[in-house]
Amino acid sequence: MAQRKPRALVAGNWKMNGLKGSRKELAALSRLLERASGKPACEIMICPPATLLMAFREAAKGTGIKIGAQDCHVSESGAHTGDLSAVMMKDAGAKAIIVGHSERRADHGESNNLVRAKAEAAHAAGLVAIICLGETIEERNDNATLRVVGSQLKNSLPDAVTAANTVIAYEPVWAIGTGLTPTADDVKKVHAHIRKRLAAEVGDEVASRVRILYGGSVKPSNAVELMAVENVDGALVGGASLQAADFFGIISAYL
Ligand code: PEP
Repeated sequence: MAQRKPRALVAGNWKMNGLKGSRKELAALSRLLERASGKPACEIMICPPATLLMAFREAAKGTGIKIGAQDCHVSESGAHTGDLSAVMMKDAGAKAIIVGHSERRADHGESNNLVRAKAEAAHAAGLVAIICLGETIEERNDNATLRVVGSQLKNSLPDAVTAANTVIAYEPVWAIGTGLTPTADDVKKVHAHIRKRLAAEVGDEVASRVRILYGGSVKPSNAVELMAVENVDGALVGGASLQAADFFGIISAYL
């Protein structure tokens, strides 16, 4: 496979957390980054709830921190009460959208087809689609991890994938918010499999440059080990992204 050197991405998924006061965490993160000796060798993104997108866009100006969104409707506009489109997220300041998160797949019954349509909507709006994949504990115990993740990838992936418009996040469902993580060796096997399946879909060249993030209980204490695993190009971070000091601790794996 061609030489690959994608720039790592550390993205914080705030989920349904954060009110106006949370802007101070963004300011604190930016101060920590400013004071850091050396520039992190990764891109940094925070995906707050949609209500904070505009405020975060303003607060992040000049800091190098990018703002992303969580989920979108497949249409650009229309009669969809309570939904938000990718175009709207872009208008509010988002550069990327997380789609197919296991909480969406579980809480809202989102299928791979729907996830693919959402990723296509993100692309159509000119945004990066961060497509999440991951097995449940039952699937892991059945030794079905590679099969499940491979099938999610194949069926959630839009046609027009480039290294610039798509990021894959491997997030074992059983590791999300539990404090549990796979071993570095397990992560290595799954990420290698994702890279291989990606190559079968989009060709070696593009596949070698698409970033594959690991997500699930990433913390400052395990970030260095997890981020050093082959084919891990950054992290998608939930709980530990809510506090600037913890998120900075994870980013520090790239300092
Ligand atoms: C997530 O839900 O995307 C996630 C990675 O959560 P946590 O880091 O809290 O496990």
